[in-house]
This record gives sequence, structure tokens and C-alpha cells, in this order.
Amino acid sequence: PGKIDILGVKIDQLDLSEALQYIVQVIKEGGRAMIVTANPEIVMKARREPRFAEILSEADLITADGVGLIIAAKIFGTPLKGRVTGIDLIQALFEIGAREGYRFYFLGAREEVVKQAVANVRAKYPGIVMAGYHHGYFQDDEDGVLADIKASRPHILLAALGMGKQEAWISAHQAELGIPVAIGVGGSFDVLAG
Ligand code: UDP
Repeated sequence: PGKIDILGVKIDQLDLSEALQYIVQVIKEGGRAMIVTANPEIVMKARREPRFAEILSEADLITADGVGLIIAAKIFGTPLKGRVTGIDLIQALFEIGAREGYRFYFLGAREEVVKQAVANVRAKYPGIVMAGYHHGYFQDDEDGVLADIKASRPHILLAALGMGKQEAWISAHQAELGIPVAIGVGGSFDVLAG
């Protein structure tokens, strides 16, 4: 599928089922993908911060999460297929993952939030494999967190560390951790915990 350039950020032209197909294929083939769910704030941040723009340019898939991007694409005369929100994407992945035995790791949010999010996902998707989780305030023990993630061998890492931070963290560590799929999911653990 093609890409739509919104003020320098290249958004993938695909719908939810195509995004899922891509992710399933990456896992099946033992590939590696960094996935960004983008909104207008991300585009503006990329315009302000060249380092962040560079990280985004390394993403393998950028979906249009925010409705503002759909509107902008239309105004620019290069309409997107539709929204692929982070929350829709991960809920669909939980369903597929529960069937296929994908191992998920949740990284981010406050301890009680991520713990509740994990509990709710376990309850809603019977059979799902939660490989592990850790809160997102680990600056004093990053090595411990890296070791925990590595030992739990997830297929899919969901990183909810806030916009920018999560993408930078994935970009810095995904390869050394050997994780096939990593997705920056912003406030999604707060939604899942709610
Ligand atoms: N968060 C985190 N560590 C941080 C900063 C934020 O785990 O150092 C979490 C925060 O608890 C929340 C999520 O990241 O669950 C999204 O944070 P926020 O809404 O502030 O970020 P945004 O994505 O809107 O920038």
C-alpha cells in the first residue's frame, strides 16, 4: 500500500484489516516492525523536533489514529482510507493473539494502571498470553526492565510512555530485545484499565 505525506510524516494508506494482516505476517516471518499510531500532535512534534522526525521516518508502519489526520489528508487532496486507532488495533490483536498464542508485553503507565489493564485484557480475551508488564516510570532501573522484557520473549510489545518517548524507546531498544512487533500506544492502558 502507498503512503500519504502529511506535512512530512508518511502515513500508511491502509485500513484496520490490512494493518492486522501486515502485523500477522511480520510475526509469522520472524521479521521486525515498529508501528506508530499517529495523530496531529505527532505530526506537529515531528516538525518541531528533527530527531523525532528521524525516528518516525524509521517506522515500518504509521497508522492514522487521529481524526484530524483524516481531515487534513482530505483537505490536501490525498484522502486516507480511514482511521486505524491504536485502541482498535490492539484490541483486534488481542483477539488474534489469543487464538495464535502471541505473547504480549505491556510497558508503560502507572503501576496500578498497567496492572489493571493486564487483568482486564486477561479477563476479556481468555487464553491470551501476557508475557509480562512493567510500569512506565523506570528511569532508575532501565537495565532491569530490559532484562525482564528480554526474558519474557514477547511477540508484541505495547509501549505506553507518552508520545515521543515511546517511539524513541522502541527505536533504541527493539532490535536488542529481538521483538518482532512494537507499537507506541499512548494512553491506551488508561483506556484498557478504565
Ligand atoms: N507515561 C509513562 N511514563 C512517562 C510518561 C508517561 O508511562 O514517563 C504514561 C502515562 O502514565 C500514560 C501514557 O504514558 O499512561 C500516556 O501519557 P500522556 O497522555 O501524558 O502522553 P501523550 O501520549 O498524550 O503524550
